[in-house]
Amino acid sequence: MMDAEIVKRRKAFREFQDFDYYDQSKGHYYLMPFNFHRINDEREVLVNEVGDFLMVDNGTFEKIVNRKINKYDDKSLYEDLISNFFISEEVYSPNIDLLSNRYRTKKLFLDSFTALHIFVISLRCEHTCSYCQVSRVTQNKDKFDMSISHIDKGIDIMMRSPNKYLTMEFQGGEALLAFENIKYGVKKAQAEALKFGKEINYVICTNLALITEEILFWCKENSVLVSASLDGPKHVHDTNRTKPHASSYDLAIKGIELTRKILGEDSISALMTTTSHSLKYPIEIVDEYLNRGFNGIFLRNISPYGFALRTEKNKYNTQDFLDFYKVALNRILEINKTGVLFIEEFTRLILTKVLTPFNVSFVDLQSPAGLINGVIVFNYDGGVYATDESRMLAEENDHSFRLGNLDDSTYDEIFYGNKSQRIAQIWANETIAGCADCAFQQYCGADPVHNWATQGDVYGYRPNSSFCQKNMEIIRYVFELMDSDTEVKKIFENWLK
Ligand code: SF4
Repeated sequence: MMDAEIVKRRKAFREFQDFDYYDQSKGHYYLMPFNFHRINDEREVLVNEVGDFLMVDNGTFEKIVNRKINKYDDKSLYEDLISNFFISEEVYSPNIDLLSNRYRTKKLFLDSFTALHIFVISLRCEHTCSYCQVSRVTQNKDKFDMSISHIDKGIDIMMRSPNKYLTMEFQGGEALLAFENIKYGVKKAQAEALKFGKEINYVICTNLALITEEILFWCKENSVLVSASLDGPKHVHDTNRTKPHASSYDLAIKGIELTRKILGEDSISALMTTTSHSLKYPIEIVDEYLNRGFNGIFLRNISPYGFALRTEKNKYNTQDFLDFYKVALNRILEINKTGVLFIEEFTRLILTKVLTPFNVSFVDLQSPAGLINGVIVFNYDGGVYATDESRMLAEENDHSFRLGNLDDSTYDEIFYGNKSQRIAQIWANETIAGCADCAFQQYCGADPVHNWATQGDVYGYRPNSSFCQKNMEIIRYVFELMDSDTEVKKIFENWLK
């Protein structure tokens, strides 16, 4: 066949090239799997399958794949590429076992399976926050509190988890409105834990308005931790979190102080939600956490779907949050530069993935996704959901992620049933388009619930995904900061000690 004819056929049928075209050995080294991402106009990062990275000048990736890196002229880079599993001098790297071991370490969280069991103990609440999916101030306990039989069944299912270390978290509404049921649940779980050899952390999530000395002494006696809500200084918190006839902020601060007095300084953590009002006050919000004696803050954007966005004033775009995050993070770095340890928690999770061999147990940054593998939610009405966000969708009558119910679903039906299996097909970012060849894949996660809620498709479409936009930019920014300022890199390393 004539050359021209061969070319024509290849164009028509996309045939394979000649063997020589694929012969990797021609540059005296073989490529191992890795990706790259442009950090800015000057620098790019190379990231391998296990999340090891190399910061290099732009254009280096192209030189590597075109076999333009020379063992002698580029000695230092060449050695880095070999030792970090980017290239190999043999077809099968002699270090392949080491690499697979590292990969297993990154995925260790899968061995133990579901740890976090959320019990939505009541949907009732005495606050009327505009961004909350729960706007019921009702006193109707029968309708909106979890029944004793559902608590029992939830505990039975929790004990079936292969994980020895469990967390039983009570959420609301306002969980303390059903304090008697919390007491019942903890007592029952304590007894069952002894039988099944489990170690359980207990957490009550509360707005603190109803906290009392009596509740706190009970928490002390039963080693129950408290997770509170604090959105920032009074003018931010009270705008975001509304309690009829009272200042939510004043009650939260009083509750924080009382909790510390009875349970100890480190016994309480706080969570903030960024509303469109909060976006104007990144510095003030960080300073509030610092001045209130917290050693860090978790900069959390509002869920970009569901009930929260029913109110127009809660809507903002991802870029607005990223601008807010960067100002706040720089304020946090300034604080650290004065010698005070103060951590931004989302950044710390990313850094754990970037700078250590380990993964994190944070649902949004896991692949396979944290839903089901890391967390399960027992709703107040007995419904079982894949994540906290999916039970929020249920409040909008979207039961797409309802895995079963506590009345008659078995453990296997919930965790290994048809719905879980369908979700499992699209819960690993290693296999989904856009993520599969993303350099940040090991640092990021997969979130089918977010895809469904924002794009109407569990598989999702990365180019206009707000989940992707947020994670990609934060990870890029973290690399840029570490690369441009050695003091910042030391601060980040210090956050991981
Ligand atoms: S969601 Fe975006 S940043 Fe995350 S792995 Fe996928 S493509 Fe990368």
